[in-house]
Amino acid sequence: MRPARALIDLAALRANLARAITLAGPASVTAVVKANGYGHGAARLLPALDAAPRLAVACIEEALSLREAGAGQPILLLEGVFEESELSSCVTQDFEIVVHEPGQARMLETASLAKPLRTWLKIDSGMGRLGFRPETARHHHERLSRCTSVAGIGLMTHLASADEAAGRARTREQLHRFDAETSGLPGPRSICNSAGLLAWPHAHGDMVRPGIMLYGISPLENRAGHDEGLAPVMTLTTRLIAVKDVRPGETVGYGATWTAPARTRIGIAAIGYGDGYPRHAPSGTPVLVRGRRAKLAGRVSMDMIALDLGGIDDAAVGDPVVLWGRGLAIEEVAALARTIAYELLCGVTGRVHVEVSDRIV
Ligand SMILES: *Cc1c(COP(=O)(O)O)cnc(C)c1O
Repeated sequence: MRPARALIDLAALRANLARAITLAGPASVTAVVKANGYGHGAARLLPALDAAPRLAVACIEEALSLREAGAGQPILLLEGVFEESELSSCVTQDFEIVVHEPGQARMLETASLAKPLRTWLKIDSGMGRLGFRPETARHHHERLSRCTSVAGIGLMTHLASADEAAGRARTREQLHRFDAETSGLPGPRSICNSAGLLAWPHAHGDMVRPGIMLYGISPLENRAGHDEGLAPVMTLTTRLIAVKDVRPGETVGYGATWTAPARTRIGIAAIGYGDGYPRHAPSGTPVLVRGRRAKLAGRVSMDMIALDLGGIDDAAVGDPVVLWGRGLAIEEVAALARTIAYELLCGVTGRVHVEVSDRIV
């Protein structure tokens, strides 16, 4: 078997969720598991998510597959429904829906459902993506509250810059607009993603929606998961399939972009962009070989990468290689590849074997 593997640590996920629950205090924690659980495989995460009173996904397809896999909690559809025909499944499956757009409100007004649905009215307080303008919040709240298909209305918004120190004024402005335009309206408030939960303790409201931190990653700039007491859930590993020496002046990989400055031991590891390792990771990006740091040398290929083994003279074919996860923060790899951990996790492809471990602690 090809050695490229994603090890999924359910004990780490359980601990990260416990951390989110502690940070949230009295606010309820909705575990965000959209995009197949940020690339970890949402269904396989369920045994570690029992403590979350609610799950959230992007769409009904994701919610239905979680139900089928045995999820018992209510599941929130963060973009609501795309078609009116989805509403009746939401009733039977205990899904809650976001309402962010007039067409979705109309669907609720014209539908005749066996039971009314719990809804979250989304207000665009400054993200500029989904939601009604803040000054229309009261109007839409009133409209939904007259609707017989609606069982309850929460108030939701989403922060654009909660992860950045430079965005603090913008976040304050978002919080202020949301509070001002919804004050006095009944219903629970939900504002925070992971960054909000970690960096804005006074903005937690009644329900928080952490995603990335559950997977052990800090969304805050210049911080990594371990700084927040989080542990990586995914460790992406493979093995060396060749070890060789190159002479000074010899090159490695497509485009010959890496030239040996001296006699150098090179390891070839069985992983590449066909597995989701980022092609834009530059030479020098760290990789662990037998737990010690080596460096990417030359371009990432589809199925392989080359490593400058540096001082790891005893490296041999079969040695374990860690691309990110335990011992090597994915945040560091993402920054060098000019992307974010979210994208790396979502990009792990189906060719990578998955191994789930659940050390009950
Ligand atoms: C994805 C998402 C979240 C979770 O965000 P993280 O940054 O992963 O914590 C929360 N709320 C909404 C509306 C989202 O789309």
